[in-house]
Amino acid sequence: MPISLKAKHLYQIRTHAEATYPNECCGLLLGRIEATAKTVVDAIATENSWNQAEAAAFAEATGQRQRQASQGSNFSIAPREMLAVQKQARAANLDIVGIYHSHPDHPAKPSEFDRAIAWPVYSYLIVAVPQGQATEILSWTLDDEHQFQEEAIAILET
Ligand SMILES: [Zn+2]
Repeated sequence: MPISLKAKHLYQIRTHAEATYPNECCGLLLGRIEATAKTVVDAIATENSWNQAEAAAFAEATGQRQRQASQGSNFSIAPREMLAVQKQARAANLDIVGIYHSHPDHPAKPSEFDRAIAWPVYSYLIVAVPQGQATEILSWTLDDEHQFQEEAIAILET
């Protein structure tokens, strides 16, 4: 099942990604999941709350060097912000259908970190930002083995 977005959502995500470069940006996608369609209605930019304490904890847990777990290569949405958006979504009769984030100077493919923290219900949109210029956007969902599979993106008119 592809994820449907409007061109303006993709533009919004690219603009956000370029604004936070060389750090990662992140945001939430609100929309509807129906039997045959997953449709994004709104893209909401959120703060990247990834911080050094978390980075250190993650580095220790995974044996990675802390240098690799800096804000430039990871993202985290604060639970409080997530809840606020969830509330906003419910009020509009929508659900959180996905999460987007950027990969500064890296391809639009999920990292091992992305996989480790991913939830099965969401689509994960990743935008590549080589040298500050947002380019490719790909969408990923987890399969039953908790591995990412690419998901088609359908761009809706208007
Ligand atoms: Zn990532």
